[in-house]
Amino acid sequence: MGQILIINFSPIFIYFPSIFIMMELTLFGTSSMVPTKERNQSAVFLRYENEGFLFDCGEGTQKQFKIKGIPLTRITKIFLTHWHGDHVFGLPGVIASLGKMDYERSLLIVGPKGTKKHLEAMFSAFEFERNFGIEIREAEKGICFDAKGYKVECLPLDHDVPTVGYRFVEKDVRHIDMKKIKKIGLPAGPMLGKLADGEPVEHNGKRILPEEATFIEKGKKVAIVTDTAFCANAVKLAEDADLVVAEATFGAKLEEKSKAYKHMTGREAAQVASQAGAKKLVLTHFSARYKETIEVEEDAKDIFPDTIAGRDFMTFKI
Ligand SMILES: [Zn+2]
Ligand SMILES: [Zn+2]
Repeated sequence: MGQILIINFSPIFIYFPSIFIMMELTLFGTSSMVPTKERNQSAVFLRYENEGFLFDCGEGTQKQFKIKGIPLTRITKIFLTHWHGDHVFGLPGVIASLGKMDYERSLLIVGPKGTKKHLEAMFSAFEFERNFGIEIREAEKGICFDAKGYKVECLPLDHDVPTVGYRFVEKDVRHIDMKKIKKIGLPAGPMLGKLADGEPVEHNGKRILPEEATFIEKGKKVAIVTDTAFCANAVKLAEDADLVVAEATFGAKLEEKSKAYKHMTGREAAQVASQAGAKKLVLTHFSARYKETIEVEEDAKDIFPDTIAGRDFMTFKI
């Protein structure tokens, strides 16, 4: 998200557009229940400025961080989609390792209904050395985390246990339009800050509205849609998203099986992205039966061309 920095002690006006904001998504696991040699269980890591959001934490996730060279302590919040083992088996390991590191913050764990009960059972099953706080939130629908520059929303999905999908939404930002400012003849200073905050200002007896001197930069959106059968909420989560990470457990030939197990085919994932008007689709959560995922990818590309079959360690700049 863009930010404006006005240096009041100098006539220089510095504008930092959003291009400087770090927003990067890494796939740490693209397999469904049974991992393969090439594919780990589910985990997606989204870095946004100083935040690190881990969506699901399949077995071996902490090792994937090591291999990729991202310190585990970058994780600031964990969002769990559901409690099927392939999405949470890595959780005790990550928490135990953070307890051995200089992890000086409180870790937020968000998950569907039942998350508190599952976590309590997990903490009593293992001996944890924990010197940091953990806040647990159960989320069903709506905003599950709200911060100054972004929010994370969730909606229930159609799976055989309580499951939520997530949507990271960077808030829109109002920027100063230097061309308009020059035309109006406004000097650099606090007035520009006010306009950037959406407030009107007075200059030479004239009232200047923010719309006359600024422009809106739309925030980026990322959707995590897994595990689920095709459903309306999957489309809602992906609406207008810059990047959709969606499960595509099966190829189109196994559509019946996919429906029976409450999963999606590549084609259905593409329908989600297409109906949602998303910009890019990354497929994940492939059945171990697919050594190569090209079949699933091609099914999807027929419907939504900007599709890529995810591979472990793939990184996307957003
Ligand atoms: Zn799964
Ligand atoms: Zn599942």
